[in-house]
Amino acid sequence: MTTSNGEQAGNAGAAMRWAPRVQQHLIRRLYESDARGLLDEELLNEVGWGLYARCESFIQAVEAARGRATCPGCGQIVLHSRVPEEVLRCANCGWETTWQAYFESFQHKQLSGAEPVLALFREFMARFPLANSPSDKMLLIDRLIHGFHQSLDGDPTRTTGINLIEGRYHEVVEFLDSLTYGDSSTQGTVETLAEWRDKIDYTAEAWGDERLRRWRGQGRETL
Ligand SMILES: [Zn+2]
Repeated sequence: MTTSNGEQAGNAGAAMRWAPRVQQHLIRRLYESDARGLLDEELLNEVGWGLYARCESFIQAVEAARGRATCPGCGQIVLHSRVPEEVLRCANCGWETTWQAYFESFQHKQLSGAEPVLALFREFMARFPLANSPSDKMLLIDRLIHGFHQSLDGDPTRTTGINLIEGRYHEVVEFLDSLTYGDSSTQGTVETLAEWRDKIDYTAEAWGDERLRRWRGQGRETL
């Protein structure tokens, strides 16, 4: 297929694809296997690479909202001015769409955040592919899904779990509260959970949101 100017246009209609959030049951099983001291490596990779793809989509969406869209046809960066009717056109492969259509493709999908979260996600993407041992991979995953967005003052706000794990905000918080831990859990994960819980409690107080406090000490299974 060629356009009127004779360019290859096989990618002209390429659709934007954003990696979905990771399914809860996969993460639940991963923590159960870790608590039993039998870290399931296949599951570890499935969850880890699912999170990797999600982080990549997150970063691409944030960059696009800043004026640097990624072409879904070939990965080229297409600069734009964030005017709804502006046509984004990839000089490399001929793909094109309006900024409005591009924006709507990732709107309301938990794909926005500021620098501290971007830094956390970039770090995961840099380190996960290099991690060798199952416990290193587990720690990277654990730290990623228990991260936080921050206010301008640096106070914790929403947990990054909402950007990475399926569910509404309270459901994701309750899900993270209900993961299984035990004596065999990878060293450091129980501490991360306690720190995460303290920060959720801080937000419960700051927002006057009792439901965020509700699951404290409840529902969690220990082996
Ligand atoms: Zn392209």
